[in-house]
Amino acid sequence: MIYIHVPFCVRKCNYCAFNSAVGSDANKSLYVDALTREICQRGDSSQIETIYFGGGTPTTLTLAQLEKIFDAVTKSFHVEERAEVTIEANPSTVDEKFLRGLRSLGFNRLSLGVQSFDDALLKIIGRLHDSRTAIDAISTAEKFFDNVSIDLMYGLPTQTLDSLRCDVDRVKISGVQHVSIYGLEVEPGTKFFSDGVTVDENLCADMYEFITQTLPTVGFRRYEISNFAVAGFESRHNLGYWTGKKYFGFGAGAHGFDGKIRTSNICDTSAYVQKIFAGEDVSTVEEVVTRQAAMEEFCFLGLRTVDGISAQTFEKNFGAQIFDVFGSVIEKNFRLGLLSVDGDRIFLTQRGMALGNEVFADFLL
Ligand code: SF4
Repeated sequence: MIYIHVPFCVRKCNYCAFNSAVGSDANKSLYVDALTREICQRGDSSQIETIYFGGGTPTTLTLAQLEKIFDAVTKSFHVEERAEVTIEANPSTVDEKFLRGLRSLGFNRLSLGVQSFDDALLKIIGRLHDSRTAIDAISTAEKFFDNVSIDLMYGLPTQTLDSLRCDVDRVKISGVQHVSIYGLEVEPGTKFFSDGVTVDENLCADMYEFITQTLPTVGFRRYEISNFAVAGFESRHNLGYWTGKKYFGFGAGAHGFDGKIRTSNICDTSAYVQKIFAGEDVSTVEEVVTRQAAMEEFCFLGLRTVDGISAQTFEKNFGAQIFDVFGSVIEKNFRLGLLSVDGDRIFLTQRGMALGNEVFADFLL
């Protein structure tokens, strides 16, 4: 698996704490040079099943720049023929020509940051697009991609359940194959934080319940706490994270995991570029994953998925019985109605999905 970070956006959204900023053409060009250099330096014979261009807004780069990065990947790794290749896009940064170009470069999955179809809300959260632009971007994308995902947000200032219901109605007729949902979190460094925006936790919980219960009624199977897909269109890349696969991370702030060590690249874009050109290392070791940490991660990452975790796989991976290690945690959360056990599988109940973080915290020994 490969993750490629593109830290540029046209404008910063009011809620966004991601590693992204507005970038000049010159900065983008330097960054692409540095990024391709990093990819080529770190290439090896790994088989790559999924590639994910995230950000930021990767579609603020030109097709030629994206092609250059893509070429560096295919020359430096063995990319499987059936690899899932995703690019995140902002609806206002793609038109028919660009989408056709993305498809012909080899991208086969498009993730559109729609967030809402409500024009007033889109303005409040500082998005560039309006609902018409989002609807047009989806229908144009569907001419070239048979795997389109959209992001939806809930818990936004002034958002109501009625507005969310309209969003779900729009999703129903949109023809997309995948939906990711995000509850608003007001994080330091964002405009919302400095404006003192707060989240109504009760309304947010109601919205989460509404959306998680409604999307499955319109054809989207919930396969993870916040992700829904038409059967067969689950994100292979994200499933890889939740099932503990190894991944490379390229670009400023990107994270990597080789099965034992978690690394992260320097976040600052200019420092990243300078270091790459100076031939210096941009990545630092974040964590050497001990056996105990690996057991904990196996549980709390796997439990994010609807299928949950397998006791047999745990035993195969760690040579220990899951109930010997986490028996009391499993029993406690089972009693609270947050976990279910069915044969080999242990998984979150619907209530457990809503309170996932509390359950995961219990798995930290
Ligand atoms: S487009 Fe995405 S990454 Fe860029 S500022 Fe908005 S939310 Fe953040």
